[in-house]
Amino acid sequence: MSATKAYAAQSPTTPLSPFNFERREPGPHDVQIEILYCGVCHSDIHQVRDEWGGSIYPMVPGHEIVGRITSAGAHVKKFKVGDLAGVGCFVDSCKTCTNCRSGLEQYCDEGMVGTYNGRERITNHPTYGGYSTQIVVDEQYTLKIAPNLPLEGVAPLLCAGITTYSPLRYVGVGKGHRVGVLGLGGLGHMAVKFAASFGAEVTMLSSSPSKEADAKKLGAHHFALTSDKATMKGLQNHFDFILNTVSAQHEYGPYLDLLRTNGTMIVVGVPPSPSKVPAFNLIMKRRSIIGSLIGGIKETQEMLDYCAEHDIVSDVEVIPVQQINEAYERMIKGDVRYRFVIDIASLK
Ligand code: NAP
Ligand code: ZN
Repeated sequence: MSATKAYAAQSPTTPLSPFNFERREPGPHDVQIEILYCGVCHSDIHQVRDEWGGSIYPMVPGHEIVGRITSAGAHVKKFKVGDLAGVGCFVDSCKTCTNCRSGLEQYCDEGMVGTYNGRERITNHPTYGGYSTQIVVDEQYTLKIAPNLPLEGVAPLLCAGITTYSPLRYVGVGKGHRVGVLGLGGLGHMAVKFAASFGAEVTMLSSSPSKEADAKKLGAHHFALTSDKATMKGLQNHFDFILNTVSAQHEYGPYLDLLRTNGTMIVVGVPPSPSKVPAFNLIMKRRSIIGSLIGGIKETQEMLDYCAEHDIVSDVEVIPVQQINEAYERMIKGDVRYRFVIDIASLK
């Protein structure tokens, strides 16, 4: 067992504070990783505050982890001590169901084991995430990180990156498509970068007028303020795809109307309460809504390699862990440019 320093929530209503615990000794297939950076996802806030139900406390959040291997079990093949490594949203799954066998571990029939706020398959111990000095993970759920990109900008790729890359690839976004990205936060800014990089014409759909210049810098060709009725009217029947990343309560209807015939809204944002889906907004133009959860290990590696090749990283504000509660408050107000990343050196 090895002593680990962390920040944890003790209940849905208490601020995060220092917390010490022990990580297991690495088994034959495990790697031990000294964590360097951990991104701050809006899912951390939803789970810390128990907005989705079933949260386990104490909770050490964090599923956008990059670090360096400090020890590797006897059967580990992919890594050696000193290598860079990444860990995303899950650390285990059944490995035998059809989904696991086809690289869709996030949809494991027995349920993936979340990097935090989950339970280990054999011991039933709660899992603790990346707001901590180290983590021990089966190498099969650990990603290779190229050395050429700034690591603080790579950390958010492990969730915000793959969550947007995967559905854009699944629906085949490319040249000739008009893509709307709804919500310019951690996921939204990665969605803009990927959709533009895949050759689509990208429109940022945002509730924040102050983000227009940034949206264009990130690669959006157009910016539309969602509160502006005339702008929204002008965009009716316009998009092939809308990637919906909004974290707060909102109606789907007005955005479905922006899709052309056979257009698809891809839902990745998970507001705490359900959104209504008006039948008319769907049937009038044979529109559809699909959902998507992060991505499997193989595709996450493909995304990381794509980013290393195309120089794509997240735009980040690096913070010491002591500022985490303030960062949460800013994210809830939509005030993040565009991902907070914790420098784990601040925990040591
Ligand atoms: P974030 O950085 O906080 O960004 C969310 C953005 O949503 C905000 O920046 C804001 O953009 C917009 N927004 C916030 N409140 C709004 C409101 N009341 N009305 C309209 N727009 C609003 O969050 P994130 O980390 O990108 O996560 C976004 C959502 O995706 C969360 O619900 C998270 O849990 C979920 N998520 C899902 C997956 C998955 O696998 N499906 C993975 C990770 C995260 P504007 O200022 O531009 O309007
Ligand atoms: Zn996340």
